[in-house]
Amino acid sequence: MIKKILLCALYVLAFTACKKDGGNGIDNGLKDDGTFTRYEDHFLEELWKLNPDWATSVGYHKYDSLLIVPNAKAREAQLKFAKVQLDSLSRYEPALLTDNNKIDHAVMKNQLESTQWNVEQLKSYEWDPSSYNVTGSFAFILNEHYAPLQKRLRSFYQKMENIPAYYKAAELQLKNPVKELTDLAVEQNEGGLSIFEADLADSLKKSKLPDAEQKQITDRAKLSADAIKAYVAYLKAMKNDKPRSFRLGKDLYEAKFKYDIQAEGTAQQTFNAAVERKKYLHKEMAKISRQLWPKYFKTEAAPKDSLEMISRVIDTLSASHVKPDEFQSAIEKEIPKLTAFIRSKDLVTLDPTKPLVVRKEPAYMAGVAGASISAPGPYDKTGNTYYNVGSLKGWSAERAESYLREYNDYILQILCIHEAIPGHYTQLVYANKAPSMIKSILGNGAMVEGWAVFSEQEMMDAGFGNNAPEMRLMWYKWHLRSVCNTILDYSVHTGNMTKEQAVKMLTKEAFQQQAEADGKWKRVSVSSVQLTSYFTGYKEINQLYQDWQKKQADKFKVKDFNEKFLSYGSAPVKFIKEAMFAPPKAEKK
Ligand code: ZN
Ligand code: ZN
Repeated sequence: MIKKILLCALYVLAFTACKKDGGNGIDNGLKDDGTFTRYEDHFLEELWKLNPDWATSVGYHKYDSLLIVPNAKAREAQLKFAKVQLDSLSRYEPALLTDNNKIDHAVMKNQLESTQWNVEQLKSYEWDPSSYNVTGSFAFILNEHYAPLQKRLRSFYQKMENIPAYYKAAELQLKNPVKELTDLAVEQNEGGLSIFEADLADSLKKSKLPDAEQKQITDRAKLSADAIKAYVAYLKAMKNDKPRSFRLGKDLYEAKFKYDIQAEGTAQQTFNAAVERKKYLHKEMAKISRQLWPKYFKTEAAPKDSLEMISRVIDTLSASHVKPDEFQSAIEKEIPKLTAFIRSKDLVTLDPTKPLVVRKEPAYMAGVAGASISAPGPYDKTGNTYYNVGSLKGWSAERAESYLREYNDYILQILCIHEAIPGHYTQLVYANKAPSMIKSILGNGAMVEGWAVFSEQEMMDAGFGNNAPEMRLMWYKWHLRSVCNTILDYSVHTGNMTKEQAVKMLTKEAFQQQAEADGKWKRVSVSSVQLTSYFTGYKEINQLYQDWQKKQADKFKVKDFNEKFLSYGSAPVKFIKEAMFAPPKAEKK
């Protein structure tokens, strides 16, 4: 997973040239790359006014003190914005723009159409009580040190003003909400209360604000906490005899997939490909397991059922893992090893001026062990990129053992490939160099996750882990997770897959622990489509890689592919493909 997508920089477009000369006969008036870039700035400014929470999270702090009340008027404003901006966009002819601007144009158009679709068709504001939750933005303002504490506390104070109105409006929007999302809303809003109670008090103590001002802030925080508690009480007491099903349904699912994933094909096609991929992986895993069997089980007869045999081998290999207190240092030691391997195989250029800072996971992110990347927001050029590593401190021996078997010596290395090098972290460094604010903000999750998954495969194919069959087998197991995420999500939301069927698939066919399978069921019952991003992105990048290899023939180099692909930033794969395969443009005069 990746925590905050990206990065980056107000790079001025290097190639805004496109100057007209009298001779070419094309009059694109004022609609050239220069005007388009200026229009993008205007677009973003308007976007932030309507979406102050989003602005805060990407590091744009002009609207930190605003909280929009989620009522019909706010939705009207969103629709008006979409209409006006779509009209502005239609004045630009994409074919006349540079490749990068052309992709921006498509990504912005998708964003606006998605807004329209969300408000007019999906209408989750009626059935998803968890979409009403102010706590994330307030936690961000309190915990991220982007400005002096006093300044942040004053924004915090002003922003609190609308909290009671916010939750009153929320109650009025709901109609037969989804049961699972109602429970989630209760859990998450209750969980966020500590921001207004404990965390705020701690910050105030450190702030040196005058006492009178501190009291004002504390009083308003009390009203805010009361409003959150009232919403929670409302949800708990709500009569809801005919709740909407948590299953999205086929039509809404296909549409959401189209806007969120921006894939080349449909959700149905991705699902079909995942089913095929699972079959292939099972066949390959059986081959490797059969080969490894005598090494680990000597003369014992192998189970006839091949899934059972694979499961036994995986189980045995999982016993090789670090001790709980070595978890963090094991992850730290992995980074230089990965860097050295990538250099020796010449897979991709790693920028030595942008080191990854490994740190202990900050307390306010806590909860999950493992590792994640925190990248500076798009407006924060100078920020560090952190590799947050969780600790297993305070875990029961049993829980730690189960977790460490999951993140055993093999998977731990693959995790670092995925999260850091050459996965998410490397992709972010390249995206930072791509001259587009738009792609940083509207970054495509399927490309980002797909790259991380694809980069694991490149490392395996380059012989990472001494080409050991054990490493390949464990990668296939890890890879099955992405594949089965897609099968699960599609089957649950467009069909009727039950919890029992889901857990059976995840434990028997994807070799997951019961706890992981239970957690996945919970996730699929409160989210849709996002779980398909890993495999969809992987599949399209893998196809693009093969097509590019064919086209380049003798001239093909993995490194060239990687660097060219990454140079477009976090854009949907289909647009990168279009740009990579476009006939070279006649030189501009
Ligand atoms: Zn990821
Ligand atoms: Zn053990």
